[in-house]
Formats: sequence, C-alpha cells, structure tokens
Amino acid sequence: MSDIIQLLPDSVANQIAAGEVIQRPASAVKELLENSIDADSTQIQLIIKDAGRTLIQVIDNGKGMSPTDARMSFERHATSKLKNTDDLFNIRTKGFRGEALASIAAVAQVEMKTMRPNDEIGTKIIIEGSEVKLQEPCQTSKGTSISVKNLFFNVPARRNFLKSNQVEFRHIMEEFQRVALVHPEVSFEVFHNDQLQLSLERGNFKQRIIGIMGNNYNERLVPVEEQTEIVKISGFVCKPEFAKKTRGEQFLFVNHRFIKSNYLHHAIQHAFEDLIPHDSHASYFLQLEVNPASIDVNIHPTKTEIKFEDEKAIYAILRTAVKQSLGKYQIAPTLDFETENTFTLPYNYEQNEVVIPKIKVNPNYNPFERELPLSFKGSPVPKDKNLKHWDKLFPSQSDFENIRNAEQEEQISITHQQETEAKQESRICFQLHRTYIITQIKSGMMIIDQQLAHERILFEQFCRSLALHKSASQQLLFPQTVELTPNDTLLLNDILDDLKNLGFEISPFGNNTFVINGIPPGASEQECKNLLEEILERYRLNTDELKFNRQQQLALALAKNIGTKRGKPLNNEEMNALIDLLFACENPNYTASGKPIIQIISLEDLEKKFQR
Ligand code: ADP
Ligand code: MG
Repeated sequence: MSDIIQLLPDSVANQIAAGEVIQRPASAVKELLENSIDADSTQIQLIIKDAGRTLIQVIDNGKGMSPTDARMSFERHATSKLKNTDDLFNIRTKGFRGEALASIAAVAQVEMKTMRPNDEIGTKIIIEGSEVKLQEPCQTSKGTSISVKNLFFNVPARRNFLKSNQVEFRHIMEEFQRVALVHPEVSFEVFHNDQLQLSLERGNFKQRIIGIMGNNYNERLVPVEEQTEIVKISGFVCKPEFAKKTRGEQFLFVNHRFIKSNYLHHAIQHAFEDLIPHDSHASYFLQLEVNPASIDVNIHPTKTEIKFEDEKAIYAILRTAVKQSLGKYQIAPTLDFETENTFTLPYNYEQNEVVIPKIKVNPNYNPFERELPLSFKGSPVPKDKNLKHWDKLFPSQSDFENIRNAEQEEQISITHQQETEAKQESRICFQLHRTYIITQIKSGMMIIDQQLAHERILFEQFCRSLALHKSASQQLLFPQTVELTPNDTLLLNDILDDLKNLGFEISPFGNNTFVINGIPPGASEQECKNLLEEILERYRLNTDELKFNRQQQLALALAKNIGTKRGKPLNNEEMNALIDLLFACENPNYTASGKPIIQIISLEDLEKKFQR
C-alpha cells in the first residue's frame, strides 16, 4: 500500500489554528488591538459594524510595516517579536506566536493598509480565506489599518454558532476593556455602527479605570502598591462596601497582559475576608510586574492563562499588599457587616399582613384565572386571560432533562396526592435552621428549601408580568440617579422595556446615567441601585445560557434578588402561605435552573433508618 500521510495545505492549517485563536469577533478584536499596542501606537480606533459580523477595523498610528513585512505578517508562525528560543523566556510583547493575522485571514476577508513613519508610500493588501487577492502601493497615513470583513464567511458552522449582536458586542467591549485598561498611555475611540461608543484620553491608570467604568468609581478605589524582589504590585481595589453579590469587576494584569487566575483571585478575595459577606466578591484592578523569565505565557493559545515560577510567594505578597491597603485606608474598623448582611433580605414579611390562603383542590386548576391568595412580593397576579403564549416563557419539562437524572426524578417528583396534602389548610410547619420548611404528609415528610421555593414563585410571577406587559410598580419617594459603566449602559438599554414590564420605571439621562423612579413591589427602595446593578450583573452572566430566553433571564435575576433568602425566620402563617404559593406554581418541584425545591422522606425510609 502506498503512503497516505501528507502535509496540510497552509490554508487548511491556518483554518485549524483559527479555530483556537479566533472563536468569535471579540477574539479578532483582541488580537488586532494587541498588535497595535505592540507596534507602539499612541492612538487606536476600533470600528465595529454589526457586532463584528460584517466589520472589525482597527486603525493605529504605530510603527507600520514595510511592503515585505506586510505580506509576511499573514504567514503562519511569522512574527517580528521572537527570534530564538531564548526570547521565549523574555517576552515583553503581547503577541509572539505569529498566528493571529494568519488565523484571521484564513476565516475572513481582510484588507490591510500600512506605512512606516519615514516612508512616502504605504502598502495595501487584500487577502481572503488565506488567498492573497491584491498587493499594491497605496496612499495611507502612518501606522496600520486592518479591516476584517465578514468573519467566518467560509466557516458557516462558526458563523451560526455566534450569539445575538448584543452578546457579541458585549464580548467585544470586554476584550477592549482588558486591553485599554492597562494602556492608559494610549488614547482609544470605539465606534459601533457609526456611532461613537467610547472615547478615552491618555492619562494614568486611575483615570483610565474611571474612563471605562464610570465616574462613580472615583470614590470606590483604594490604591495598592507593593514592591518586592519578585513582584511589583500596583493598582486599585474597590472598597469593601462596593463588593458585589455576583462576580463583580475583576481585572488582574501580569506584565500588562490581562490574565485569569483562580489562585491569585483567591489571594485577593482572601484579603477581603471578614470585610465583605462571604457570598460577595471584591472588585479590583491590579497590575503585577514580574521578570518575564519567571512566567510562562505560552500555555494557552489565547494567552489568558499563565504559569508563575513563584506562585506561592506571589500569592502571599498579593494578599498582604491588598490587606495592608485596606487597613491603611482605615476601612476595616469602620465597617459593620452585621447590618450589611441584612440587605440581602429586602423583603420584610413582618410588616405585611399575612392572609391565610384558602385553596380548593381542583385538578383543572389554572392559577391565572384568579388572584393568588397572597403574593410574597405584594403584587397581585393580573387577572387578564390574554395569556395565549405566556407558557412559552417557562422552561419546559424537557429543558431540564439533561439536568436531572432518573434517580433524582424518582426521588423528588411528588405525586398528585402528596401535592393535595401539601395544599391542606391546617398543616403544621416547622422551620429548620431558618432554611427548610418541614411539613407532614401522609406518606412521610416534605422538606422545602424556602429560598428556592420563593425564587420559583417569583419567577413565575415575573414571567407572567412580562407576558402581559404589565406589572405594578412602587414609586420611589426620591428618584435615584445611577451611573453605569458603558457596558452596563448597553445592557440596560437593551432590556429597558422588559424591566418596565417587571415594575421598574427607569429613564435614560444621557452619559451612562439613568434615573430610577419606580421599582417592583417588594424590592427595597434603599437598595434599588444595588438591585439594578445586580440584575444587570446576573443578566450579563447568564447571557450565555441557551436554556433561557432573555425575558426568562430577567425574571430569574429579579426573582433571585428580591426573593426571601435562607436565614430568614418564618412564622407558621408565612410558611403556609409560601407552600400554597409554591403549589400554585406551574412547576413547584424545580427551580427555573433545575434545582430541586422539594425533598420527600417517606415513612418507609425512616423505618429503614431506624432498622424497624
Ligand atoms: P504576533 O503578534 O504573535 O507576532 P501576528 O500574526 O499578530 O503575530 O502578527 C504578525 C506580525 O505582523 C507581528 O509580529 C508584527 O510584526 C506585524 N504586525 C501585525 N500587526 C501590526 C500593526 N498593527 N502594526 C505593525 N506591525 C504589525
Ligand atoms: Mg499578534
């Protein structure tokens, strides 16, 4: 038999490499911006159309390329940043693998114009799917402009895999921030669909953080400085009172490269220990400088993960530096987190009149044909019958099939009879550890997680409000102004209508600022800014979950936020009301994300345990 192994043609090899390096428009943005920074540019423009699907263009005023280099730059493993293996251990540039341009050109139509500062004439190259279509001298300004058109035009699978424009554009802005934050010496402009989104002047690190995150970061930042033999640390952490319930803003840079490191994140988080509630996350913008020989950047194609030689020492130094800064700014002694903790419980049952619900058991029960007995958040369920498609808002049973396994199913799904029993009026409930509600059913006992139960109840209520386009709103006595980061402004504009249907009254006030006039009933007025920020944050974190549409995501974010939390004492009436509302739900067994809400322990199980 003849030999069968062949070398892949370059175009194929490049496309394969592109699969790793260029996953979505945001990855191309990252690579192009990094190249412009490596070319010592002081001014960079990023121009995007249709969230990068049709155009990603980066224009810089950097050192440009000669005609030959311009052509060479699209070859795989072609780089000006490394010459030998020794250089691999002394990397100070962002790029060094020489595969970004080759990868981009393999999966898009690329036009480059470039000129070095002392040249009279520049070079233009057009290359599509790794094939050079044109190279000619051209008039252009000093520096380089690269346009990437119709990304993935020849990789339909990748193209179809892209998310909505909003999601893709947010990814782009995220990559942009990661580069722009650590390069305050460079001015940036970002355009999307011909509109200026962001303009950043040259300045220092603090000014850049504020330029990107918004003016309200000015009062939040505490400087961190530390210099030792092995690492120099500089930057800022956010004061503990601005810690977020969800991930928050966390930026860690090593030698001006954004990196992800759970290990070092833990060091910083650890420094905040006792200063923030255990379920909150600190925000930070920290730069580490280390000897390039002591790290390995080359362990992942996108270079966001690196290996440190002295990881343990850096952990300790980082933690101490952050801790000292927090102490120096005398933040530690003035904070009282006992009171801080209570803001996770915005809803206060005690102040509400509790009505004992009366539910008749009816197998054809439709919870929306009448008002629910008591709404835990205080807004009655609308009576409209115009509910044709609302049930689409709920994830269907099949959505959870991948989450549950059969064994769980058997154990958790309650029978109609158990449900009927649970709905009985005069049941006795018991609260265990302020977390679980335990009640007797004929076959044994039922344990309900109070937090998950309320989350399910509110989720369904909010889905209904969204479907019906109306909801009660609680007017604020004093309208509140919030200033958001540009990214959150994009996000909020996107979902403003839906938020209105959930009970928010929010109007744009220009310049990333919004005025909150009304909030959903049950939400706390004092915490309304936090509520909005948390919803945005949760919504942003969830946007990658295919399982939910965006309205479900919002309903879920709000339900999680204003729902009763574990740790809240409940009296008998409240527990009963909660159980009734739960069993009035479409799906009382599982939360929207598929977690079981109810557990049943049968008498049989108990007997077995006691070996009777
Ligand atoms: P790498 O950045 O890893 O070297 P790239 O494929 O991103 O690989 O770029 C290849 C080469 O093209 C770079 O090494 C650099 O010499 C040149 N280059 C790319 N972009 C620019 C730019 N904006 N200005 C000047 N030179 C550039
Ligand atoms: Mg590069």
